[in-house]
Amino acid sequence: MRTRRGLCYPKATNDDDSYRLLKKRKVELDGDFAGRREFFDSLPDDLILSVLCKLSSTAGCSSDFLSAVMTCKRLNGLGMSSIVLSKASRRMLAVKAKSWSESSHRFLKRVADTGNAEACFTLGMIQFYCLQNRGSGASLMAKAAIASHAPALYSLAVVQFNGSGGTKSDKDLRAGVSLCARAAFLGQIDALRELGHCLQDGYGVKKNIEEGRRFLIQANARELAAVLVSCPAAVVPPSWLTWSPRRQGGVGDAGCPLLSDFGCNVPSPEQHPANRFLSDWFADRTGNVPGPGLRLCSHTGCGRLETRRHEFRRCSVCGAVNYCSRACQALDWKLRHKAECALVERWADGEAEGL
Ligand SMILES: [Zn+2]
Ligand SMILES: [Zn+2]
Repeated sequence: MRTRRGLCYPKATNDDDSYRLLKKRKVELDGDFAGRREFFDSLPDDLILSVLCKLSSTAGCSSDFLSAVMTCKRLNGLGMSSIVLSKASRRMLAVKAKSWSESSHRFLKRVADTGNAEACFTLGMIQFYCLQNRGSGASLMAKAAIASHAPALYSLAVVQFNGSGGTKSDKDLRAGVSLCARAAFLGQIDALRELGHCLQDGYGVKKNIEEGRRFLIQANARELAAVLVSCPAAVVPPSWLTWSPRRQGGVGDAGCPLLSDFGCNVPSPEQHPANRFLSDWFADRTGNVPGPGLRLCSHTGCGRLETRRHEFRRCSVCGAVNYCSRACQALDWKLRHKAECALVERWADGEAEGL
């Protein structure tokens, strides 16, 4: 009987020939590998550093970068140099709360030490709110703010408005407004919205309703522009931009009715990784809430926790929700609470009628 082996493969002459062939192939492969290694060793450091800088600034997540630099000793040494780490992108530095460890803390610290503003802000937020290391957290955020990092400027404004980490008398409204103005100038949408509300209410700044309204419209327009930039025009559903004054966003709407005042309905803005960390940290580990009676900001995209009791402002209608800032309150109102707060009112009305 003729087998497949017998039909398809050349007959081995003898064992010595096969062994010689295998040995020859191995020598060729070894030579090839040695050649390539020699070529890699001959590359100048500058060239590898520029490739690693590009990788560090465009990596979609930390593992994209780390799996490359773990390949060999030389890449590891150059990849961990300050010039490469200082270019690390926001996404590369995004740490998950559930995988937080000593080593992730050390890595963020190492990147922050290079002057990377994104790392300073992220670690500052984690230290200030999650680890209750207020001094170190605030100084890291200040370091990022000095480098014109807009989210850090806005975060420090929230700290000033609330007197976070101190007492009620530590509130500095004027400092909050000026930090907000700087962040808004750099394009921070939350800061622009906060500033608009401050002007409308005369909070920390001279009341100017018209100017406040102008800032709020500008914040909405920037929000829409940010969505259109991140989303190709071809996939933007016409419903987002169709004028429909009667449509009101509510619970269950796919998009954020931020612009519902203007008949537009765009998706909610992407949460900053530092805010996502805070949200997950306090949601996953309820034991992480340091004291009784401390409340989270009710806006789901924020994640900030009170540093003392009754620090955050409450909804004046239902009193059931708390916010770290006017911007969070305005956003959550349009995103979710408008429907819930009205419901509470309706229940109360129903009860009153039933009595
Ligand atoms: Zn309410
Ligand atoms: Zn908030």
